[in-house]
Amino acid sequence: MTKLESKVPEGPLHEKWDNRKHHYGLVSPNNKKKHTIIVVGTGLAGASSAASLAEMGYKVKNFCISDSPRRAHSIAAQGGINANKNYPNDGDSTWGLFYDTIKGGDYRSREANTYRLAQLSSNIIDQAVAQGVPFAREYGGELATRSFGGALVSRTFYARGQTGQQLLLGAYGALMRQVDGGNCEMFAHREMLDLVMVDGRARGIITRNLFTGALERHAADAVVLCTGGYGRAYFLSTNAVNSNATAAWRCHKRGALMANPSYVQIHPTCIPASTEYQSKRTLMSESLRNDGRIWVPKNKEDVGKPPNSIPPEDRDYYLERKYPAFGNLVPRDVASRNAHYMVKQGYGVGPLRNAVYLDFSTAIKEKGKAAIEAKYGNLFDMYQKITDENPYEQPMRIFPAVHYVMGGLWVDYDLMSNLPGLFVAGEANFSDHGANRLGASALMQGLADGYFIVPASVSNYLATERFNLTPVKDDQAEFKAVEKDVRANIDELLKLNELALKKPAEERRTVIDIYSELGKILWDDVGIERTAEGLEHALEAIPRLREEFYSGVLIPGSDDTFNKYLEIAGRVADFLEVGELMARDALDRDESCGCHFRADHQTPKGEALRNDEDFAYVAAWEYKGRGEKPVLHKEELEFEFVELKQRSYE
Ligand SMILES: Cc1cc2nc3c(=O)[nH]c(=O)nc-3n(C[C@H](O)[C@H](O)[C@H](O)COP(=O)(O)OP(=O)(O)OC[C@H]3O[C@@H](n4cnc5c(N)ncnc54)[C@H](O)[C@@H]3O)c2cc1C
Repeated sequence: MTKLESKVPEGPLHEKWDNRKHHYGLVSPNNKKKHTIIVVGTGLAGASSAASLAEMGYKVKNFCISDSPRRAHSIAAQGGINANKNYPNDGDSTWGLFYDTIKGGDYRSREANTYRLAQLSSNIIDQAVAQGVPFAREYGGELATRSFGGALVSRTFYARGQTGQQLLLGAYGALMRQVDGGNCEMFAHREMLDLVMVDGRARGIITRNLFTGALERHAADAVVLCTGGYGRAYFLSTNAVNSNATAAWRCHKRGALMANPSYVQIHPTCIPASTEYQSKRTLMSESLRNDGRIWVPKNKEDVGKPPNSIPPEDRDYYLERKYPAFGNLVPRDVASRNAHYMVKQGYGVGPLRNAVYLDFSTAIKEKGKAAIEAKYGNLFDMYQKITDENPYEQPMRIFPAVHYVMGGLWVDYDLMSNLPGLFVAGEANFSDHGANRLGASALMQGLADGYFIVPASVSNYLATERFNLTPVKDDQAEFKAVEKDVRANIDELLKLNELALKKPAEERRTVIDIYSELGKILWDDVGIERTAEGLEHALEAIPRLREEFYSGVLIPGSDDTFNKYLEIAGRVADFLEVGELMARDALDRDESCGCHFRADHQTPKGEALRNDEDFAYVAAWEYKGRGEKPVLHKEELEFEFVELKQRSYE
């Protein structure tokens, strides 16, 4: 049985991180260059980790699947990044950010990690400003902030609707400086397909060159995985099309535990799907809820009318009505669930009746069009380009879409997985957000991990484990054996095409076809509202779909060249396993908490009803083979400093 040790330091909450750092081992400047560290991913977590480790003097090898590190999914982040600097003097504090985050996550995260995140938030802003990140500023030059859901203060720093892009350019600049200086070697268009363990430690990876198909072996003293989240398992999501679970899932297959896989965030403000063939949903940033008011017609017979023809007294501003304290700025899980209910009850608007309105008319009247344009201009343009509707003149139509996963590989306080030497940062780890992430907290977490935690904890690992880290070479047996497994896996996928071609033409299915069916199962059964029956259905339907996949599916082309079909097939094969684990975790967690809403566990007012006595733990799953029942390990969550309460945003 794997023993889960969170390694949370002793002592008062506000001293834990300092205490840990004071006891961390250090590597001497002369020895740093003798250590190679692999960082997989170049999003905010990966770029900041790689740049910081290389700046410290380690030899870093950095990998990404895109052609340029700058094309990581982080670049899509729009609304902002939280930090408790309290510039507006509205009562913010480290405790305040910590408390909002732990409450927002419905008390399913580790207190110590969440507090450290709040402590580091201010440093991130300083780091980014020093790099030249052009945050929005007030007239006097001070950094501007805006409000995000789940908070009563204004603590979100932003660069129009392109905060992720600007932060990533900052981190990318720092990274390229290291590449230029020779401390970091960049490997673009490489996909990590497996982890190499030597003597029980993570010592390398196998990658595939996505242009040539060549398999490559890379050896190191530690591996830092920053490969993002697995929300694309749902097929339709706001994530980049290339976001995937493969690197994390292959580590899971090598023994890394997967934590809370069913905690999936469904973002309330996204452009609704316009056809069933759509492959991507577009986010409209949460920042829009600062000024936008959400409503549906009060009378069902009005749902087909043009919104501007419906008078204010016939509109139901349901969030303002139900949650007077937070109004339109309730946390995402609450806003999404309410939109889902409204549509389910027949109040949905738009051609497919699958949306609610997000209306800026009040804000435009009060503040003027120019002020709204200055804040959200690029988001409004994007909306207009996609829908051909002008949001300055009529309300936006929005509906929830899969956006972020709070689940991920289990890590201890040092961000190390249960596999020694495998560190996990950013969205890829199970993170500090519990069962629901507050808006603008993912960028904060990825950068806290990359700029501040990983550099310290990886150094500590190298310093304290130096006698166990005997030199490894990429031509030794362990590397060859894992490469052989990867090759066998690719061959298995390519054979599926031959099997598909033996089927009658009308029975041949493409990978995308299978993938979209998986997405539909997950959305219907492991989506906003879950039931035991639905989850049991998913646990029966997903393995059946997987069987169909392995009975033959069209994957044209070969593996010795650029082959997008093959790439996607490998990712879908993994999603078919991830999806099953998500359903199993959701069924096993027989309570509601945050985004995990079980219809059979709700308060009389329809809010998530937790069961702290039985479920205040992190569920960490151990892989036992494709189609085999995984083993559950529990990390009990201890709450020393906050009182567990029913969340209320009224
Ligand atoms: C549309 C949108 C808007 C958002 N806006 C905000 C916001 O305003 N504020 C906020 O806090 N959060 C926001 N988020 C969430 C946030 O953007 C992400 O959680 C965060 O950027 C993830 O960063 P990351 O570094 O962990 O991963 P990513 O940015 O996803 O980077 C993953 C990296 O890993 C690489 N990779 C993946 N798999 C492999 C593999 N097998 N081999 C090699 N490389 C691999 C990729 O190439 C990439 O470089 C938003 C999310 C979306 C979808």
